[in-house]
Amino acid sequence: MSRDTSSRPHRVGTEALLPFAEGEDGRMVHVSTVKNGKKCGCICPACRGPLIAYHPRAKKAPYFGHYTNAACDPPRALETMLHKLAKQLIEERKEVRVPPVVASFGETHSELSKGGIFRPESVRVEEAVPGMRPDIIATLGRKELFIEVAVRHKVGAEKLALIKERRHSTIEIDLAQWRHETDEAKLAQAIIYDAPRVWLFNSAASDKEAALLAEQEERAQQRRERAIKLANAILPGLSEPPLMKAPPGSLFAEYLASVEDAGMADVVGVAIPGSGAFGVADEIWQAAVLHFLLRQTAVTVRYLPLDNAEYSLLSAAATLAHRDTAVDWTVVERITEGKVRDPRAAVRTYLDYLCERGIATFCGADQYAVPWNVMFRAREAQKESQARRDRLTTLRKAFEETSQLVGGPSMTFATWIDVQHEGIQATPRELAYRSEWSLSPLLDRMRRIGNLVTPEAAIVEGGLLGFPAEEHLAARKADAERKRIAAEEIKAARVAAEQVRQVTEAAARLQSIRIATQEIEGGEALLHTPLKELDDRSIEQTKGWMSPTEFVLVWGLIRGRQDIARKKKEREAATFAEAEKWREKLIQRVAELFKPEFRHSVLHSTYPETFKRKLIEYCSDEKTYKVSVNVAERVRVGRN
Ligand SMILES: [Zn+2]
Repeated sequence: MSRDTSSRPHRVGTEALLPFAEGEDGRMVHVSTVKNGKKCGCICPACRGPLIAYHPRAKKAPYFGHYTNAACDPPRALETMLHKLAKQLIEERKEVRVPPVVASFGETHSELSKGGIFRPESVRVEEAVPGMRPDIIATLGRKELFIEVAVRHKVGAEKLALIKERRHSTIEIDLAQWRHETDEAKLAQAIIYDAPRVWLFNSAASDKEAALLAEQEERAQQRRERAIKLANAILPGLSEPPLMKAPPGSLFAEYLASVEDAGMADVVGVAIPGSGAFGVADEIWQAAVLHFLLRQTAVTVRYLPLDNAEYSLLSAAATLAHRDTAVDWTVVERITEGKVRDPRAAVRTYLDYLCERGIATFCGADQYAVPWNVMFRAREAQKESQARRDRLTTLRKAFEETSQLVGGPSMTFATWIDVQHEGIQATPRELAYRSEWSLSPLLDRMRRIGNLVTPEAAIVEGGLLGFPAEEHLAARKADAERKRIAAEEIKAARVAAEQVRQVTEAAARLQSIRIATQEIEGGEALLHTPLKELDDRSIEQTKGWMSPTEFVLVWGLIRGRQDIARKKKEREAATFAEAEKWREKLIQRVAELFKPEFRHSVLHSTYPETFKRKLIEYCSDEKTYKVSVNVAERVRVGRN
């Protein structure tokens, strides 16, 4: 049993202070398990000198010190102590943790076993094998594991080489972090389980690594062989530069068109060293790469689908009947004297060229991208190119339709499109290249030319754009002339009718005014009097031609006069009725006063009182009635 003595023992001078020492039976014992002082009976595991056990009072950890002043190197004493303790613990417990077994080859690492606890049947310590003396040899059946315990020094290069040469599976446990540990349980835990340990050599891993190496060499050999075969196949074709062009309608043609549309035709067809790998003209494979770059905005060269069907141009070439990964391109390059390189290397060189031209940028990690402004310009240019093609298609369709309508074209579209036609400022192609806006007047005119066959056609004002439509135009012009004349005749008839109507109206107006003036006193004179309402002309002078305003004014004037005349007549009528009444009364009075044979004479005679007027005429109101009655009564007196 050990006490909790995790704190370090105090050092006295340069003396080694050991928590463990070798007991009388040769086993390592902890200082707390032996008698105090010289009676401990322990010796130093390094110098084998006698030791004294110090059991200080409380708060201080116990330790062994050397009894004599014999020179003993303290670190060496500690190291030897740990070595012996480790050997003893593993030997006694018969178990030790081994690390995972990993076979490493190049950048690949494959774990062959997860490691774990190795439980040997027997453990031998400090046993010499030819050429070396491992710390521990643990065996289980035919398996033999060497265990090295490192405190200050790890296994040296010479010993390591020997271990590998002899193929001894060996682990090394690194106790450097535990060299001042005094607690027995903690040291046991570290030695058997926790302390870092590595395989100095593992036969299984070694076998696996050897197998991987052999495989790699085999593959490399195959790649070399393929490369030689490939290079020999390519060589005859390299006497002349590859000239395969893009057949119309093929993907290659499409790539080229797309690059031309983007306004980048000048960066394809660049001489790139070793591009013989593609077996096609430079502009073809470069257009494919550029097309892909523009479409993806970024590419990683090692992932470029060089053997993809889309890039069949590459597989079309004899060189790429093989995958580049299966060919040692350095061999091909050597044999073809650099005319053929790894296609990806050629692609990289080409992309570097694009970087110089500002079309691409290198982003690191084998990746190239298109700057956004380049991408934007390219896409705009592609859109415009497409729009131009669309306009040309529209133009061709209109050409065909018009030709058909007017009885066949007089020239082919290919000729027609580049002719400067009468009445337009540019050739049809130039107009189509400019914009939809500038093309539409031409299309409109073609439509009108096509419509010349219909009677309703509007006449084409300019030329016939080379269409054989003269007859139609002449017919439509004659037709239009006829229509124009007919229209003019109708218009003249309307004007005449209007004039007649106006004359009739004027006469009617004058007549109605004349009739109205007849009712007016001095009406005839009014017809001849200059009136300010008629700008100092008389009504008769106007002969009835007056503006509606003038007519209204004249009519108002006549109405006013008519009213005055009517009122006067009414007044006269009333006076006459009153007079009649008084005359009737007078006739009755005369009848009362005279015999019938005198009555007429009295009434129709004149008198001074009546101002020499006949009595019957004089009597017209109450006053004259009274005068008349007085006159009659005076006459009766004289006569009767
Ligand atoms: Zn010693």
